[in-house]
Amino acid sequence: MASPAGHPLNVALPAGTALTGEAAKTFREQIYYVDSAIEDCALADGAINLTLQTQPADAAALADKVVTLATKTVESFRRVQTKTVFEFVGQPTNDQDPFPHLTQTRQVIPSGIGTFTYQGTFLKVMRGLDEFFRRFAVSLDAVEQSYPTTVPANNLATNGYLGAFPHHALLVSAAKNDFDSLGALSGAVAAGETPPLSAPTQALSPTVCYHCFESLKAQQIPAAGALFSGTAHCHRNEGKNVTTLARLQTFTMRELIFFGPAPAVEKRRQQIMDHARDTVKAWGLACKLLTACDPFFVSGAQAKRAYQSAMALKYELQVTLPHLNDSISCASFNHHQGTLVKSYEITGQGGAALQSGCVGYGFERLAYALYSQFGTAVETWPGPVRTALFGG
Ligand SMILES: [Zn+2]
Repeated sequence: MASPAGHPLNVALPAGTALTGEAAKTFREQIYYVDSAIEDCALADGAINLTLQTQPADAAALADKVVTLATKTVESFRRVQTKTVFEFVGQPTNDQDPFPHLTQTRQVIPSGIGTFTYQGTFLKVMRGLDEFFRRFAVSLDAVEQSYPTTVPANNLATNGYLGAFPHHALLVSAAKNDFDSLGALSGAVAAGETPPLSAPTQALSPTVCYHCFESLKAQQIPAAGALFSGTAHCHRNEGKNVTTLARLQTFTMRELIFFGPAPAVEKRRQQIMDHARDTVKAWGLACKLLTACDPFFVSGAQAKRAYQSAMALKYELQVTLPHLNDSISCASFNHHQGTLVKSYEITGQGGAALQSGCVGYGFERLAYALYSQFGTAVETWPGPVRTALFGG
């Protein structure tokens, strides 16, 4: 949010750096991680107009970083082509933002930046969604799992997460084990200072599937394939990008995580995408399924985005929010190839090489999209949605 007394910094972009479409969207999300003083960002023709909280110590150095982010982001999308698998117009009956109603009726209660407590009907919708996709996972003979909150921080370094998404990481540290540090902890936190912490050994898990990989670390699993499913809170530092229920720091996701030879992984992913298509069609949801890229941060983003796009390693189900005339990604369908099984040393029995994939359904976003398209009176939602979520 721009403060009226903000300091302007106008950064000229090199000729040919056109920040448009997905590149512009990604840049807008990532600019706030470049410097914590950045309050607001407006894209103009050939320039970026920033509003800063404080006068920068070195404006030229900051401008350089902004240009680096802009040029690398544009380059990284140059070879990305988006393919649409299907698109449904659905039958939305509402075009108002349901968020004010959900907070006023205390079904959704803000508890921090990007964190909420849920109760009442909204919670029933969230639970109904989880149960619907849990039943689907069980129908495929998935092994159900229940997960802790954290994963070992070191494994987020070795599996590539911290390299690709350093801006999203939330690391967990204990206070330093010494008398003075323990005494100083409360005061430092209250004063907004960096408290005396030990090195982080745990991280809040950014995904569900990393828990599953942890549970299978250095294990041999059936070479023909295996399927797991569970629900967990996922955590990502979204900085200044948190909004309503569309982008949260802590959100709830169910994933199906699958292993097998490469063709079996692709077949499984396709089967789960088919189920998603049948589901959204039956529910009358306005949405589309298309190829997508992860929000890689600068380093290596160019090669990663081009590869992910060329190999169709990621599809997203984007559901329309009529009040914004925009859509949010509510589910993703990912093929990891051999990268994660290798990192976690998971092999097939007899030493067979495996690949993996995962599908994740984000329940806050799905619930928000349902409320956005069908309104705040759940009893008037389409019959197939009510049957799926509440059993009738
Ligand atoms: Zn996953």
